[in-house]
Amino acid sequence: MIKKIPIGISSCLLGEQVRFDGSHKRDAYIVGTLSEYFDFYPFCPEVAIGLGIPRPTIHLVKTDDIVRCVGVKNPELDLTKRLLDVAAQQKECHSGLCGYILKKDSPSCGMERVKVYSGNQPHREGFGIFAQEMMRNNPLLPVEEEGRLGDPGLRENFIQRVYVLYRWQQLLAEGLSAQKLTHFHARHKLIIMSHADYRELGQLLARLSKDNLLEIAEQYISQLVNQR
Ligand code: SF4
Repeated sequence: MIKKIPIGISSCLLGEQVRFDGSHKRDAYIVGTLSEYFDFYPFCPEVAIGLGIPRPTIHLVKTDDIVRCVGVKNPELDLTKRLLDVAAQQKECHSGLCGYILKKDSPSCGMERVKVYSGNQPHREGFGIFAQEMMRNNPLLPVEEEGRLGDPGLRENFIQRVYVLYRWQQLLAEGLSAQKLTHFHARHKLIIMSHADYRELGQLLARLSKDNLLEIAEQYISQLVNQR
């Protein structure tokens, strides 16, 4: 049986009824197609911090250049710290993942362009509080939103980065060596050429010595998977 790749995901995208109104946002492509290749690890940060289902709606508000996640009807309900803390608590679990799919527009899970209210005018300039902290804690992790996965180019880019990180983790588990790193580079030439500068990464590997293997390996994978 083919081993599936571990991917974190906002629970509501798998059909779990965890949204503020007790509904879900099941995504047919994720559930029907990607689940054949990915082993999903669902997580709902709002449920994890103890909010009920159903629960009052929340949104992002900016005051004095600080963005906070607060209740729409009750601005005194400030969930910012609890969402940051739950992302920090998940850091170890996230280190075993090869990607993450987030629910767009959510003040907790949105990857980008989340509405931020300042005065009465919302601006699409925010990041979900949980999502932003999760991405900060896991800079190598390929992350996408379900809406963007509808774009063939973005979808292919995400899936390729997931596979690269998956194989990278396998390489580390087997034991890293200069020879294996060079072989990895050659084996992924076509994928690398579609994401990063193959020659530049090759020049980085040319600096490999027995003293700098880990340092070069970290730079290499960071340059490779952070290209979107
Ligand atoms: S978007 Fe995130 S916080 Fe909102 S219901 Fe889905 S998983 Fe929970």
